Amino acid sequence: MNVLVVGRGGREHSLVQKFAESDQVDRIFAAPGNAGMSKIAECIDMSEQDFDGLVAFARENNVGLTVVGPENPLLDGLVDAFQEAALPVFGPTKAAALIEGSKHFAKQLMHKYEIPTAGYEAFSNVEAAQSYIREKGAPIVVKADGLAAGKGVVVAETVDEALSAAEDMLENGQFGDASREIVVEEFLAGEEFSLMAFVNGSNVYPMIPAKDHKRAFDGDQGPNTGGMGAFAPVQALNNSSYAFAVEEIVKPVAAAMVEEGRPFTGILYAGLIETSEGPKVIEFNARFGDPETQVVLPLLENDLVQVVNDVLDGKDPGLKWSEEVCAGVVVASAGYPGPYEKGRPLPELKADDGFVVHAGTAWESGKYVSSGGRVLLIGNKGEDLAQALDRTYQSLRPFENQRDFFFRRDIGRTSVSSAASHADVE
Ligand code: AMP
Repeated sequence: MNVLVVGRGGREHSLVQKFAESDQVDRIFAAPGNAGMSKIAECIDMSEQDFDGLVAFARENNVGLTVVGPENPLLDGLVDAFQEAALPVFGPTKAAALIEGSKHFAKQLMHKYEIPTAGYEAFSNVEAAQSYIREKGAPIVVKADGLAAGKGVVVAETVDEALSAAEDMLENGQFGDASREIVVEEFLAGEEFSLMAFVNGSNVYPMIPAKDHKRAFDGDQGPNTGGMGAFAPVQALNNSSYAFAVEEIVKPVAAAMVEEGRPFTGILYAGLIETSEGPKVIEFNARFGDPETQVVLPLLENDLVQVVNDVLDGKDPGLKWSEEVCAGVVVASAGYPGPYEKGRPLPELKADDGFVVHAGTAWESGKYVSSGGRVLLIGNKGEDLAQALDRTYQSLRPFENQRDFFFRRDIGRTSVSSAASHADVE
């Protein structure tokens, strides 16, 4: 079978790597792909938004399965275009992807089906939003309704900060159409984790829980990014919280989408926070997470083509997971998520330097150079989190003391120290 992966980031490189392990795969195409993917897939110079081009390419090249990585083409209806052309595709329709595309929609759905999440109100009028903020007090969270490239959430420590976030979004058009409406919600305290699941209608096959690190700098300081590192599974999460997240959150949401006439097929990603009252939803995404995918897929022991085809056929794929732990640390361009330089040469990596997942790289004159903010992720598996992290930080040595790049030194560290202090107590 020929497989097409749509996208250009680390998540898609990780998918390509997993598909490359399958005996069922003849050719792997990536549109547009990246320099790392080009070593194991045929990269096509075609944008994720070129729906006619992608449909024609899949038809002409006998593509038996297409997987769409990023949210924008999903929200714009790429899966619908493939379905109309009777081409096999794994991902949500435009109607189902709304669970990521509109925070207000997702909140209404959770409210209606009593799925645990932060209390909220939605507003399009700034005075109404501001009086609600004054009434509730801080900390409080202000969110643009639509997609804002990961920047549309303000966790406000003070009422003033929340008032100006509401004004920026509603009055000053900070995110254009995406912030014509906002959601103002209760601040939830607790450990965050992500839970992705293969979904087809009301059939839900959960993956292992993962944790990413969104802030740019050590100690969870600095601005939010696309994600600076991740690990899986999250062993600190107790079994009953995991079971609760699957049984009381992901399965009911999938069933609710069927009930609402928007059946979801693809990867449903729940961003969760373990509060003192149990897990609650922060957000849903309609696709694989980045960088969670890069540390979850290496632990999947099944053939990914078989899994996706089973899920599409309504069969239980019988997911099997390695007993190991996988960690990954992102190397970013100096300055990211603000302005940064491109075209900086990458240091040489040896074959035993863990696994490497490319995101913002290009191949120029026989070597890799940077071409984006998040450049690549280096990961390793280990018997436990401490070993996976030690190996990963060893692998990162070539990036130490490089002026053009930086990485966080504390990915997974609080979890390692809390596991150690647990052990001390026991
Ligand atoms: P989102 O884009 O919805 O994932 O939000 C980005 C980040 O904002 C999350 O990863 C959380 O750290 C934080 N956040 C969002 N909603 C809340 C909330 N209700 N309470 C506390 N933190 C939140």
